[in-house]
Amino acid sequence: MHESSIDVRPFSVRLSLHGDLDFFLPSRTRRKDITRSLSEKTSVKDVIESCGVPHPEVDLIVVNGADIEVYPPEIQSPQFGKKRLQVHTISRFVTDGHLGKLTRNLRLLGFDVAYDPQAHDRQLLDAIDRENRALLTRDRRLLMHAVVRTGYCPRSQDPDEQTVEVIRRFTLLGLIAPFTRCLRCNAQLQETTKADIIEELEPLTKIYYEQFRRCTGCGQIYWPGSHFPKLQNSCECWRLSAKIVPGLFQVRRNSILLP
Ligand SMILES: [Zn+2]
Repeated sequence: MHESSIDVRPFSVRLSLHGDLDFFLPSRTRRKDITRSLSEKTSVKDVIESCGVPHPEVDLIVVNGADIEVYPPEIQSPQFGKKRLQVHTISRFVTDGHLGKLTRNLRLLGFDVAYDPQAHDRQLLDAIDRENRALLTRDRRLLMHAVVRTGYCPRSQDPDEQTVEVIRRFTLLGLIAPFTRCLRCNAQLQETTKADIIEELEPLTKIYYEQFRRCTGCGQIYWPGSHFPKLQNSCECWRLSAKIVPGLFQVRRNSILLP
């Protein structure tokens, strides 16, 4: 990798980026084919990252002489089915401090998302290493860190579109379990009886509601009239997801906490 360049004559490689990987190129030079001149031995991974494409976004590399074809996970090919570099399904994430709304949406759908808006990059990378989480960030440099095995850079700046992107990238549709995770602390919710929590309820809540869940982490109590309906109405991701990901509405209707 770091051998002397004395023996290597300068040569060029041509990279073809497939799918939407040209998203990572500077907008004025955005195109599918790039030529790179090399004067020393370099790994294919480093050549690709030097063009701006983080390694967790690359699922397949096909090298033919000086031609390098680079594919994202979304493009499947039976020919290279076993040569894939990326995990296709993972449901544990860590998000960087700029993705608070995406975090909330994913927790609402039941996914385990570690999020601390004050966390430094080092702490995010430690969480990835320790807990085998996929990194969600729009910081490409962070995504290129060697510790990151699985990760994704949301293309959209809109949190609801980002949610749909993450569902598609990590094939999460079948794993959606709405309202099973605390939006505040990420711990799981557990069903609880009204009798157990009646002392903690407001007078009108005591009268009108029968189904309750309590967070196993912070103790927050949830019921169908509290946080969830407001979120359902405000959460564009449902409407958007239903359009893009068939079947999501079905999941929503089957949720036991929904009317
Ligand atoms: Zn909680």
